[in-house]
Amino acid sequence: MKEESLRSLYKQIFSCRKCSLWKTRKQPVPGEGNVNSTIMLVGLGPGREEDKFGRPFVGRAGMFLNELLSLAGLKRSDVYITNVMKCFLPNNQATEQQIKACTPYLDRQIEIIKPKIIITLGNVATTYIFKKFGLKVESISRVHGKVFEVSTLLGKIKIIPMYHPATALYNPRMKDVLREDWKKLRSLL
Ligand code: URA
Ligand code: SF4
Repeated sequence: MKEESLRSLYKQIFSCRKCSLWKTRKQPVPGEGNVNSTIMLVGLGPGREEDKFGRPFVGRAGMFLNELLSLAGLKRSDVYITNVMKCFLPNNQATEQQIKACTPYLDRQIEIIKPKIIITLGNVATTYIFKKFGLKVESISRVHGKVFEVSTLLGKIKIIPMYHPATALYNPRMKDVLREDWKKLRSLL
């Protein structure tokens, strides 16, 4: 059921030209993982490695994400991972317009997978998911590692914003902040 719905969504994504990013992508990166998981991770968008392999979080940030997942007692195969944007972001940034064009795909993924926990990675994903579920938007530096519960038509969902794993690649001192946040998750899950 879920697999079938996702397959047809991925098909749409693969032929999508709703924003200019289709021109510079090698291939879209729709998302991957355990479609029956209660946990969904949402990043920003594919980098160069992800664009090359068609899979989310397979570059350096992805390596660190794997470590963080293990601190929470999770494996990649325990979660479903996707991004706000489905095509390669050459400058690691998306415009408001591009986000508006692409997020119906993320909305649909949430509808299909029906996660009970959404872990947002970084400011862009956090802002989008907070707005979507009617939470007051705050900077990731204020909300990281905290749990926000919202009631939706699909039942209660916990939203847990985290710093983007790439933050620690630019600023190694952040590594331990991220590790602490993810360790605390273990008791929650
Ligand atoms: N950064 C992201 O936000 N997503 C990826 O898939 C890879 C790096
Ligand atoms: Fe379509 Fe999203 Fe790719 Fe833009 S980034 S072309 S909206 S799939």
